[in-house]
Parts: sequence; C-alpha cells; structure tokens
Amino acid sequence: MPEQQPKPNPYKIAQEQLTRAAEICGLAPSTIAILSQPKNEIIVNFPVRMDSGEYRMFKGYRVQHNNILGPYKGGIRYHELVALDEVKALASWMTYKSALHDIPFGGGKGGIKFSPRDHSVSELERITRRFTHALGANIGPEYDIPAPDVGTNAQTMVWMMDTYMNVVGFVDKNANRRVVTGKSITSGGSYGRESATGQGIVHCISEWARDRRLEPNGSTFSVQGFGNVGSNAAKILARTGASLVATGDWKGYIFNGDGINPHKLSEHVARSGSVLGYAGARAITREEFFATPVDVFIPAALELEIGVAEAKALSCKVIVEGANGPTDSVAEPILAEKGIALIPDILANSGGVVVSYYEWLQNKRSERWDLEEVEERLAKRMKRTYLAVSEYAATRKCDWRMAAMCIALERIGKAYSERGIFP
Ligand code: NAD
Repeated sequence: MPEQQPKPNPYKIAQEQLTRAAEICGLAPSTIAILSQPKNEIIVNFPVRMDSGEYRMFKGYRVQHNNILGPYKGGIRYHELVALDEVKALASWMTYKSALHDIPFGGGKGGIKFSPRDHSVSELERITRRFTHALGANIGPEYDIPAPDVGTNAQTMVWMMDTYMNVVGFVDKNANRRVVTGKSITSGGSYGRESATGQGIVHCISEWARDRRLEPNGSTFSVQGFGNVGSNAAKILARTGASLVATGDWKGYIFNGDGINPHKLSEHVARSGSVLGYAGARAITREEFFATPVDVFIPAALELEIGVAEAKALSCKVIVEGANGPTDSVAEPILAEKGIALIPDILANSGGVVVSYYEWLQNKRSERWDLEEVEERLAKRMKRTYLAVSEYAATRKCDWRMAAMCIALERIGKAYSERGIFP
C-alpha cells in the first residue's frame, strides 16, 4: 500500500453526505439550505502565559451548526491540525447524531489548534481557562454545551466548568455545572460517561453479530487510535471473548496474533504516552496494520483515515466507526464491493452524546444516577436506534450511513416545517 494520500476537506465530505441523504428522504430545499451552513462560526485568538513567563497566542474555534432541536452540543478538540472546515464538519455530524437518537440537543464542535503533548499541566489549565473566558457567553448550559474530544478529557471539562461558573455570577453558580459534560464524577460528571462511547460501539457490534448469528467469542478485532474511545471499546469488547490483535496511535502500530491485553496496554500508554514499546506485541507499519485480517475493525482516531488504499487493503467483516468521519466517500463503494459492512459514526459512536445528555439531565435535576441505571438506559437507547437504522436501510434499500442520516434529517425537517423561520 502506498503512503497515505493527502486527506480531502472533511466539510466537503459532510456536504456530500447531506446532499445524498436529502435526496433519499426528500428533505425540503429550504432545510437543505439551512443545514448546508453552520449557524455560527466563532474564532477567538487569545494570549496565554507560558511557564517561561512568555505570552503565546492561540487560535480557538467554536462552530454552532444547528439548534432547532435543542442547545448546541459537541466536543472540544486539542490537536495541531484543528481547522475551521474540520470543526464545521464535526459540528454538523453532531447535529445529525443528536437528532438520530431523538435527544433534545443540536450540534456544535470546537477546538484549539495546538499540540497538547507539548505543554505542561499548568499550561494546559491556563490555555483551557483562557479559551473558556474568550468564548464567554457563546457557551452556556441552555445554549451550547461542550464535552471532551481528541486531546481533551474530564480534567479539561472541569477547568472549563469552573472558569465558566466563576464568570457568570455568584448566585446561580451551581446551576451552571451542566455547561459542559464529560466531567469527573466528583465535579458533577455521570457514572458511565468516560466509557460510554466505547460501550455504545460494543452494543452496535453485539447487535450486528446477533442478527447474523455470529459469535463474538473467538473473533478478532483491530482498533486505530487507543485513546478514550479506542481503549474503552477494546476493554469492553474483550469481555465478550473477542481478541484485540492490532492497534496503533499517533506514534505507530503494534500486532500480536495471540491477542493483546487492552488493560495492560492502557497501563503502558498511561506510562509512556503511546502503544509503541508495549512488551506484549511487535511493531508493524501503518500499511501492515490496515492489511491485518480481523473480523471487526474499529477506527477510533481522526477523520478520513480510510481512503482508497486503506479500503483496498482492509480485510474484515465490519467497520464500526468509533471516530467521527473516518471513511472517505470514495472508499465506501470499494468497501461495499468487498462485502464489508459499515456501521456509521453517527450511530456507532453516539454512546458518548447519549450519556452526556444523561449527565446534563442529572445536573439539571440535582440527581445522581448509579452506574447500573446509566448503563441500562444507554443499552436500551442504543438498541432502539440501531434497530431503527437497520429497518430504515432495509425498507429504503440504502446503506446504513444514509439510513441514519435520513432518520435525523426527517426529524429536523419536520421541526422546520412546523416552526418555519422567525421573523
Ligand atoms: P483521544 O485523544 O482520547 O484519542 C485519540 C487517539 O487517536 C490517540 O490514541 C491518538 O494517539 C490517536 N491518533 C491521533 N492521531 C493519529 C493518527 N494520525 N494516526 C493514528 N492514530 C492517531 O480522543 P477520543 O476522545 O478517543 O476520540 C477519538 C475519535 O472518536 C475522534 O474522532 C472523536 O471525534 C471521536 N469521538 C469521541 C467521543 C468521546 O466521547 N470522546 C465521542 C464520539 C466520537
């Protein structure tokens, strides 16, 4: 397989998906026009004091794609490649993900263009707090609710929450906890949120296997990206008896045909910052990683990692999109031709936004649900939405990405046809 090709513009891919799905479900041209642009694109440039005493400027984004069904909702990414069109694409996928699940949220996304690995914890705290301050009233518990994404975590969300709640006013300080989700448990997070995206992926795999009378026990899988989503999916999937044989991250890829223990690998990553160097597997190239035969492949890194060459190399039964937008549209027909099924991102990785919604509800009602209750609710909702997508695809004879998009677009379209635009 040749070197990875330059990636296309993710916003163009998101637009193509919207156009194709709108045609299948007959979405009104006025709604297509509204959804083809985000409502707001906010760019902030803000100074941060580095440990050295120097001031450095950072560029942060928050794109609010649509809020017809509820407050904007979506992650904050810290990565050196963050760019406006990437954030626009990610924000639009959030709109469709919330609508697909019938969650009363819209879609948003944000990020800062920098590499968090190059900064100390105290610099990361100051970057996060200055970004939150620069966003000001552009976020809010009933307006726009960030969450973790690539390069951010529960600690980042707690810093955002603390900054926001200290700026907006003394009296209703605690009512503002739900300005972000994905917080630590002690600071108002929900049990089950950290593993929710991985758990949702495994619900999809279990349903898919059950419908085909396949036994997860004894099957194999590979995971690209061993961060929050990838590592949690691997740990939960391993409980079904499936075996992780290959994985990789920003630094490189590893393989062990006898299986890699995802718990031990997580400990290695926490210590060293990468899967590379793990004693229980050998290093392989990116090309070898994509060509490794497995039953299930879970992309859980960045968007547009599966291009034509990767689609040609892949040898699996199903791709379950843990990452947002990991598959280029030109790769999809190649996968279909090879008989590889694809469970699309807005369904497969939606466990995160579902439990974010539960966290938001718990904060709003001053409640604390136990893990069992969160997991039961998540399982029920994932299975219900999975079935809806599977039935839509069978009835309308379309692929699953289009089925998931159409269910979402029909809900959004109905809201616009009832409400119109004001004034
Ligand atoms: P993370 O930062 O915890 O992990 C990202 C992983 O991808 C890391 O292992 C990183 O090393 C790896 N990676 C980065 N660049 C890479 C590259 N060029 N090649 C290979 N690996 C690379 O982030 P995360 O929260 O696990 O998010 C991963 C994906 O899942 C993203 O697409 C994100 O938008 C999506 N997602 C996350 C959530 C969530 O709840 N965190 C929910 C839905 C979707």
